[in-house]
Amino acid sequence: MKAIVVKEFGGPEVMKLEEVPTPRPGAGQVLVSIKAAGVNPVDAYIRAGNYGDRLRPFTPGSDGAGVVEAVGASVRQILSGDRVYLDGSVTGTYATHALCEQTQLHPLPTNLTFAQGAGVSVPYLTAARALFQKAMASAGEWLLVHGGSGGVGTAAIQMAKSEGLTVIATAGSEKGLELVRREGAHYALNHKDPDYLNKISDLTQGRGVDLILEMLANVNLGKDLTALAKNGRVVVIGSRGPVEINPRDAMSRDAVVLAMSLFNAPPADRIALHTRLARGLMDGTLKPVVGKEFPLADAPKAHEAVLSPGAFGKIILIP
Ligand code: NAP
Repeated sequence: MKAIVVKEFGGPEVMKLEEVPTPRPGAGQVLVSIKAAGVNPVDAYIRAGNYGDRLRPFTPGSDGAGVVEAVGASVRQILSGDRVYLDGSVTGTYATHALCEQTQLHPLPTNLTFAQGAGVSVPYLTAARALFQKAMASAGEWLLVHGGSGGVGTAAIQMAKSEGLTVIATAGSEKGLELVRREGAHYALNHKDPDYLNKISDLTQGRGVDLILEMLANVNLGKDLTALAKNGRVVVIGSRGPVEINPRDAMSRDAVVLAMSLFNAPPADRIALHTRLARGLMDGTLKPVVGKEFPLADAPKAHEAVLSPGAFGKIILIP
């Protein structure tokens, strides 16, 4: 099989496409022929060595979709030929094949392409955990998706809209603004517009939003606290540095700042999230947006793209 291999932490160029031995599934394991791999910002942080230590060499990637090629002993309910999407793997998804524990596989509905399947796990689990397990979002509330044009943002817009929230989403480009509107945002604002926070106040008649999903807290957390309604909640999903806030902005609103890492979600919570996603993926309410596809060998270009402005849904690698 072929796989992207990282031998030393560093810039995108440390990812090289190599020929490596194809693993054989042991008990409870499954070999998947990967048709598409999802690229997440965290893959780039890990590759750079900014996300804890890790045994090297390794193959990046936790998201992917493909077809089951072989199953090991005691594997239940998964057959060769099944279409699946991956929530993690043993060997990494930036490859033509990935060895998985059977618990890491989920059925890929036939209405979704493999590229869309590769855009499910990290983005949709993150958005669903933030909305429903952290912020306890409910119908009728106002939500600001602060960074709505990327993988997590588009997932959050689709989910919140289908649950009856009123969604304001931001993007930093015209294309991104069109995308968030198309995915269901009731209002789209440009986070590069110096006046966009006042527009949130106008839209909510000065009340503020009940919830904020924050993709860039180091830039926005201080501003978020001023955009909240009384008893509002912010969920910090992404941050790339420190930030200064005025605690009085939180005190005057009885506001709550929550933060999350998907890595911390206990297995039972994760199963509950997949169950929630399954319904929406089947009925078409949830449809990952594939913005850019790169061949597997261009993983370095994909990592440059995932950290650049102008997000448009998911970036996908095609082996
Ligand atoms: P992505 O696809 O690259 O999208 C990034 C988003 O951030 C885009 O919508 C981008 O908008 C937006 N953005 C850029 N500048 C912004 C600003 N000043 N204010 C608000 N938003 C801004 O990344 P993703 O996969 O959606 O992930 C988003 C963030 O969450 C990343 O930092 C990622 O590492 C993190 N994350 C965390 C978890 C967790 O468990 N906590 C899980 C998944 C992701 P434009 O490009 O249109 O400007």
